[in-house]
Amino acid sequence: MTPSLKNILVLRLSSIGDIILTTPFLRVLKHRYPGCTVQFAVRREFSDLLRHNPHIDNLITIDTSEGGNALRGLNLALTRERFDAVFDLHNNFRTRVLRNGLSRQMHTIDKRAWRRLLLVTAHVNLYHTVVPVAERYIETGRDYGLRPDAGAPEIHFTEDVRGRARLRLRAAGWRTDVPLVGLCPGAKHYTKRWPSERWVDLARLLFARGYDIALFGNDADADTAQAVRAVDPSRVHDCTGRLSLLETAAAMTFCRALFTNDSGLMHMATAVGKPVVAIFGSTVREFGFYPYNTPAAVLEVDGLACRPCTHIGRADCPRRHLGCLRLITAGDAIEALEELMRDDEQPGTGSP
Ligand code: SF4
Repeated sequence: MTPSLKNILVLRLSSIGDIILTTPFLRVLKHRYPGCTVQFAVRREFSDLLRHNPHIDNLITIDTSEGGNALRGLNLALTRERFDAVFDLHNNFRTRVLRNGLSRQMHTIDKRAWRRLLLVTAHVNLYHTVVPVAERYIETGRDYGLRPDAGAPEIHFTEDVRGRARLRLRAAGWRTDVPLVGLCPGAKHYTKRWPSERWVDLARLLFARGYDIALFGNDADADTAQAVRAVDPSRVHDCTGRLSLLETAAAMTFCRALFTNDSGLMHMATAVGKPVVAIFGSTVREFGFYPYNTPAAVLEVDGLACRPCTHIGRADCPRRHLGCLRLITAGDAIEALEELMRDDEQPGTGSP
């Protein structure tokens, strides 16, 4: 018999991609237990990603800058809730403090840590099947009958946010009758960032095909943004560092397709349902972060002996050549886009 669930706590404190990948879990949970109350704890700076999610009844935001006392204080406050189950989809030091004693039914994500370590350090592959991270989250609810539903990740925002995003794109120079493609050239780690010169080459090829470009990211992407803008400032609409998380997601809906690194914005692009060309460097499919249940092409260099050299990314390339990314050309990326666009049955939006 499947246990009943009425009051549930879900923990995933960061980051953009991981949080977006929890949304299929939330959807199947609410579908299986429509009457249950779902409370979700997340770090304040990422909370907008879930603010309008219809499968969450109470969003608990945490300011981790306040340190351990804030976590212990929240843990104490939550002991009054009597949760039927806690799903810890993060399972780090902070969530262990937070969840302590909150329920007898404690379910934590299996991160496949040993397999990951063996693959990175010894290139021994003990992954028998590749289970996407979104489905590793759903696995935590196996005992409650939760199963993947073949749906994509979700992100929800209001029409006001979409209107603001459109205005900002217009302010950045976009004429709404010109088809737009989004580029997300950033990533936290160097070995996940396709080099600037490749983005510049890609911009030239996109212009030749009649597209304008919207650039998405944060202030750390300023150098690449500047290099891409220099190709033709009138056709590159630079939104880096100017949009909130939800405005970025909303602005992506105006794009025909997006090019991204292996980054949080890649998962955001999948959540808005746009075709994605994703460029993977030092990490591999086994880690579970490829675009999930969405039209996407992954560009990666197969057969490179040094790959993977990390599971999260590194500040430099141990081999100094960054071949895992440099060997992927702008021509490869355009070819992938054209194939995706042929397959994509959904007409491009780009509508004003
Ligand atoms: S080229 Fe090899 S060693 Fe260098 S970052 Fe890529 S995977 Fe790692």
